[in-house]
Amino acid sequence: MQVVVNSDCLHCLYRLYVNCIVIERQIIFMTELENIYDVVIVGSGPAGLSAAIYAKRAGLNILVIEKEYMGAGQIAYSDKVDNYLGIPAVNGFDLGECFRNHAISLGVDIEDGEVTGITCTDGKIDTAPAGNKLLWKTILSDGTYKLSKTVIYAAGSHHRHLGIKEEDEYIGKGVSYCAVCDGAFYKDKSVVVAGGGNSALGDAMYLADICHDVYIVHRRDEFRGDAATLKKLQERKNVHIITSVNIQALRGEKKLEEVVLSDGQVIKAAGLFVAVGMEPETDILKGIVELDNNGYIVAVEDCVTSAGGFYAAGDVRTKQLRQVITAAADGANAASQVIKYLK
Ligand code: NAP
Repeated sequence: MQVVVNSDCLHCLYRLYVNCIVIERQIIFMTELENIYDVVIVGSGPAGLSAAIYAKRAGLNILVIEKEYMGAGQIAYSDKVDNYLGIPAVNGFDLGECFRNHAISLGVDIEDGEVTGITCTDGKIDTAPAGNKLLWKTILSDGTYKLSKTVIYAAGSHHRHLGIKEEDEYIGKGVSYCAVCDGAFYKDKSVVVAGGGNSALGDAMYLADICHDVYIVHRRDEFRGDAATLKKLQERKNVHIITSVNIQALRGEKKLEEVVLSDGQVIKAAGLFVAVGMEPETDILKGIVELDNNGYIVAVEDCVTSAGGFYAAGDVRTKQLRQVITAAADGANAASQVIKYLK
């Protein structure tokens, strides 16, 4: 049974009737509700799956929502992960599969869905971390929603674009954001890798085995990526490192043919692999939880955010080091905070 009530008294009603909750001006009796999860985990990368494993093992009623199965998030794009404890030189996709299979073996439910909004069931966001335990409503693109006592938000980040005029026009016609996915299309051709971090260096290493020539173009003369990888690249005959320039324009008839640099150089290249960092998937959280100037959710190691019952794990939160191992650690921390909060 659903009863429409006056919105003024929603809060009191929620507190008064233990057997019902209020959603958008309606009292909904618990018996009619679908599941109310202890925790809904948004994202199935290392942070989300680690949180799922800890929460499930603690006996919580949990659901993981994943946007698109790609093999446990961004990690799937790494050809080789060589710094995850105890599993050296593992392919990123395979490592992600290990995480996923581990979670599934414990009975974790993973559901496909794009989260388009998150709010509290009475529309108010509780800003006190240990405050009034309202229910969270995670809304999906098909209009359905999930209710939960807590949320662990581990949606990760997406590839940053270079921001040059022709970039979007050449996506799929030479411009790519994933060397592991698209590198094979450029066998024996020349390609450019943009960026100076570990992603760019890793992509260049991967492409150097496939492509005729690889040009790394970086805007500064210092690299953020590992010195050891940079040294290996400097030793490769088909790798050319160009620093202190920007990519200014892209040219080509139907597909990419030339990359024009800010110093006037023109590189003949069939591919441009953009590896200039990531941006957090937090657009839907504006006004819900505190974000920093770059859009990351403000949270420290305990993953507690400005909103009670809402936790941020992995690349989406403010932190120094965004790695698989730090994301997995966040998942454990976030789940342990959820357990504490529910008690
Ligand atoms: P990142 O470390 O943030 O590096 C981004 C690079 O792109 C920087 O060199 C930056 O230049 C450049 N950049 C940013 N915006 C640009 C623009 N608009 N135009 C031109 N250049 C631009 O990002 P990442 O390489 O993706 O790495 C992200 C995190 O994942 C890091 O912590 C990294 O160590 C980690 N990671 C680890 C592995 C591994 O261990 N196997 C692999 C990949 C990534 P500036 O340097 O001038 O700012």
